[in-house]
Amino acid sequence: MHPPPPPLSPSLHVPPLLSFLSSSPSPYHAVASCAALLDAAGFRELPEHAPFPPLLPAGLYYFTRDRTSLFAFAVGGAAVPSAPPSLRIAAAHSDSPNLRVKPASKLAHKLAGVEQLAVEPYGGGLWHTWFDRDLSVAGLAYVRDAETGEVTGRLVDVREPVCSIPSLAIHLQTAEERKAFEYNKETHLVPVLGTDVAKTAEGDLHSPKLLELLAASLGVPAESISDLDLGLYDVCPPRATGASGSLLASARLDNLFSCYTSVAGLINHVKSDAFGKDEGVACVALFDHEEVGSVSTVGAGGTLIKDAIARVSRGVCRASPPPDLAELTALRSFVLSLDMAHAVHPNYADKHNKEHAPKLNGGMVLKTNRNQRYASSAQSSFIMRDICRRAGLGRMQEFAVRNDCGCGSTIGPVISANTGVRAVDVGAPMLAMHSVREVMGAEDVDRGVALCEAFFRYFGESDASLR
Ligand SMILES: [Zn+2]
Repeated sequence: MHPPPPPLSPSLHVPPLLSFLSSSPSPYHAVASCAALLDAAGFRELPEHAPFPPLLPAGLYYFTRDRTSLFAFAVGGAAVPSAPPSLRIAAAHSDSPNLRVKPASKLAHKLAGVEQLAVEPYGGGLWHTWFDRDLSVAGLAYVRDAETGEVTGRLVDVREPVCSIPSLAIHLQTAEERKAFEYNKETHLVPVLGTDVAKTAEGDLHSPKLLELLAASLGVPAESISDLDLGLYDVCPPRATGASGSLLASARLDNLFSCYTSVAGLINHVKSDAFGKDEGVACVALFDHEEVGSVSTVGAGGTLIKDAIARVSRGVCRASPPPDLAELTALRSFVLSLDMAHAVHPNYADKHNKEHAPKLNGGMVLKTNRNQRYASSAQSSFIMRDICRRAGLGRMQEFAVRNDCGCGSTIGPVISANTGVRAVDVGAPMLAMHSVREVMGAEDVDRGVALCEAFFRYFGESDASLR
């Protein structure tokens, strides 16, 4: 008999992160999961479409936009109503690459005798990892009440594996085809729903089978579903892996890890003594559409961040505010842009140079790119290192891409360009970014939360002299 595996290294935030990932199969669910954490910590939801109340010291608030972006803020206990506040904003994105159900998704393949689902790739996924996975469907459904006629948007998650994208058998590929492993995103990346091809009426947009599944999980009749925004996801649950449990494997670590750590760090901050002495406002901003360029009403390139800065500054600075209050607030503020970082891959180690080679479980990574793919500047990087030094978090790992390799980007440069707020780009090291199954170090989870908490606690004593 084999001995049982050794116990996992104790980590405060790994179990809640795993359940957060499980309950967040779509950006709608991710924002709802964050809202649930904030509600439980005493934050109050403000409807975005109504005027904000006066924002008093020690007030905890959040608002959402279109249910896929969120702005949470905690007014420091020592905030004064006569000065533009300093906002410390931890920012991340709620979306991940996936396959989205098309507006007209019903698809029957007569020769194969199967029903399929028309999908559209969202973002830059490593799509070959989506083959041969058990896939389910989740997102938002608009449901019409039969009696009142009222339509409401409801989160939906079928949970069961209802489709998959089978690979082509090796015997049916030439040697060249096997070597190239090429696939066409229109014709080869089409999930199979099953062999019980349902009869559809002319004009039906979706398979009756799919609508039945959604209706069953919503507890409503299928005909009451009037519109949908659905994505596919792998039902394989997130879990600790590796010989000693030191790794985490999951979909959507990019960037739900940062959504979780920023919210958990904010909650820790408001529960700490530091919050009572805080003169500023600690904020978390979560945006949709990072994977497709951030330009939308819910993206980091939209108005959400500027609107939030203007409205929060007006709510806090109520006593004779200066006419340029929002601009002054932006200039006093700071964005910690959190997104994942590339750890050294042992099988592709030549993709990093040794001075900029983050390791899994080696701590959070400061990301620098002088071509502005990342927002980190000399000043914002100094502040970030100073935060870690003061909080006793040790040295950050450094990342800059090789000169002969392309570099990713994220929301840091988008936000700072749109608002004038200084920003730094930071992330947790990971492997297999944009795979349907990504990997990170379990020990980096608590470090991520601690870094966010330290960021909110930082009062910027040395800040003014750096300008
Ligand atoms: Zn990302």
